[in-house]
Amino acid sequence: MAGEPQADCLFCKIVSGEVPATVVRETDTTVAFRDINPQAPTHILVIPKVHYPDAASLSTAEPRVAADVLREAGAVAVDEKLVETGYRVVFNTGSGAGQTVFHAHAHVLGGRGLNWPPG
Ligand code: C5P
Repeated sequence: MAGEPQADCLFCKIVSGEVPATVVRETDTTVAFRDINPQAPTHILVIPKVHYPDAASLSTAEPRVAADVLREAGAVAVDEKLVETGYRVVFNTGSGAGQTVFHAHAHVLGGRGLNWPPG
């Protein structure tokens, strides 16, 4: 059922604790943890606890949880002292855009200069 944990989903296993992660923030609806393969000095993923394959399907089905993800991305930036220098919040959507884990997640990247347009 939409939103339910998926047995084959890595990020559902991080939510349940079955797969370890370095968690930096947690709320009733979200978990934030350090990316295992960081692309910047600070690289944290914010995920909803409910399972939707991408940000668009999450925000359509559960807009309040999508807002929680965005709020937590901002809170991570404050905690990691990224606000003054700037940071980027990215939702890769679809394999053509680099999405490899099909459980909605926001990348929060900062701590170095970030070029535009992205690669
Ligand atoms: O946007 P994309 O789907 O590619 O992002 C998935 C991210 O999940 C990658 O940056 C990858 O390094 C990260 N990851 C992780 N911990 C895992 C597996 C993947 O942080 N155990």
